[in-house]
Amino acid sequence: MDPTSAGRDPVFDVAVIGAGIVGAAIARELSGYQLSVALVEARDDVGDGTSKANTAILHTGFDAKPGTLESRLVSQGYALLSAYAEKTGIPVERTGAVLVAWTEEELAALPGLREKAEANGYPHCRLIDPDEVYRALPALGEGVLGGLTVPDESIICTWTTNLALATDARGRGTEVLLDHAVTEVAVGAEHTTLTTRGGTVRARWVVNAAGLGADVIDGLFGHRRFTVTPRRGELFVFDKLARPLADRIVLPVPTSRGKGVLISPTIYGNVMLGPTSEDLDDKTATGTSESGFEFLLGKGERLMPRLLQEEVTASYAGLRAAVDHGDYLIEATAEQRYLLVGGIRSTGLTAGIAIAEHVTGLLADAGLELTPRAELPEPPRMPNIGEAGRRPYQDAERIAADPAYGTVVCFCERVTAGEIRDACQAPLPARTPEGLRRRTRAMNGRCQGFFCGAEVNRLFDEQTRTAAPTGPAGDDRAVTPRQEA
Ligand SMILES: Cc1cc2nc3c(=O)[nH]c(=O)nc-3n(C[C@H](O)[C@H](O)[C@H](O)COP(=O)(O)OP(=O)(O)OC[C@H]3O[C@@H](n4cnc5c(N)ncnc54)[C@H](O)[C@@H]3O)c2cc1C
Repeated sequence: MDPTSAGRDPVFDVAVIGAGIVGAAIARELSGYQLSVALVEARDDVGDGTSKANTAILHTGFDAKPGTLESRLVSQGYALLSAYAEKTGIPVERTGAVLVAWTEEELAALPGLREKAEANGYPHCRLIDPDEVYRALPALGEGVLGGLTVPDESIICTWTTNLALATDARGRGTEVLLDHAVTEVAVGAEHTTLTTRGGTVRARWVVNAAGLGADVIDGLFGHRRFTVTPRRGELFVFDKLARPLADRIVLPVPTSRGKGVLISPTIYGNVMLGPTSEDLDDKTATGTSESGFEFLLGKGERLMPRLLQEEVTASYAGLRAAVDHGDYLIEATAEQRYLLVGGIRSTGLTAGIAIAEHVTGLLADAGLELTPRAELPEPPRMPNIGEAGRRPYQDAERIAADPAYGTVVCFCERVTAGEIRDACQAPLPARTPEGLRRRTRAMNGRCQGFFCGAEVNRLFDEQTRTAAPTGPAGDDRAVTPRQEA
């Protein structure tokens, strides 16, 4: 297990490809054992793929297909991520959800959905009549026929989740290798060599958690078992003034295409409407479209006309990694010391930690030796960027100790100079203004940076000029595992 044995090429025990929520959770879990782990990411930040652009609901798994791996891992993931969020300070609000029926057909489907929830181990759904639906959500449009409550559906910060998992993994010894897009794979008798844009990475075992790129990596290992279709979901984010209209999640009756268009409060105090569902060819097409805009306007008009009178502050799109397989596709190939995590479409934020535990079990069955570390560092305590918890600008004691927390720079989102500094000096620091947005909310508000952008960028430049370089240089060298503590 010693990755730095004298006279041998440095080889990681495990390389995990992809630093989204799933890959970061796997790296964190594996580095709880006496293993040297590399988290190998193509982009210049963790959580910059699908994990940054979703609807950010912590799902109970009530509507998963019973008996599937997805159903089991979503429901386990709900419990695991809820507990982890408590420990690390990931913002979560237990808003609950109401599934709303607008047609006779949807109404007829509700009892079946309640039974499905029970089959998934979630017994708390309740059928309610239209009056009760309107009491819970008075701003809904006319024509509601009934509803089903899901009291434990919650909203969560997907950005902080990804950062917490990756920071935790790093704290446990994982080497986070950014700007390391894997382009070639050579499986040898003792180890696999990954050729990446940031240098060569060698590892005995490789886990493919590359999300939209998982089929390509699988192909580099010689498999042709699935194709990822990017399924775009576009969303509108409404101004915070809209929040009283939707203090819980409004779910549609799901179809075979997915969970449908919902209205949800966000953890940052806004309301969102979406996502659309559109299969594309281009895995980089995260732009929004005129047709998506029109479609969401139509849906919004029906679901909650008053919402459309509020201002839209932003719109964005995320790409689900859709596959033909009706379930998660998680398989180990022992002879290649390789494991695929594919088809994590619409539930990976919730299921990530449970997927990591499942993957670890499969790796052990395939021959990876697992010895728990005697001691593990405490998980990180993440900065709170949720609206329900106390933010630095509200914390008199903190401001007295460090006036930078009293200097608001982004006024829409009330982000302070202290938080910008912290984000640039964190163990996984912001390396771009986009990374800063995800760590602090700076420039995410009503003005979208029009008012504060210059000052935020000035502070960011100042901090990144003074911060010590953290990432690998990106030259063509072999990457060496860190010495174990
Ligand atoms: C519109 C939408 C709404 C959603 N809503 C929810 C929700 O409410 N709740 C929920 O639980 N889930 C939701 N999801 C699903 C969830 O976001 C995903 O399942 C989850 O983010 C997948 O994480 P991941 O780590 O597998 O993928 P990603 O986050 O995409 O991470 C994969 C990483 O691999 C990297 N990579 C790819 N190729 C290579 C390569 N060759 N070399 C190195 N690195 C590579 C990528 O750069 C990327 O960072 C939603 C998804 C979408 C699109």
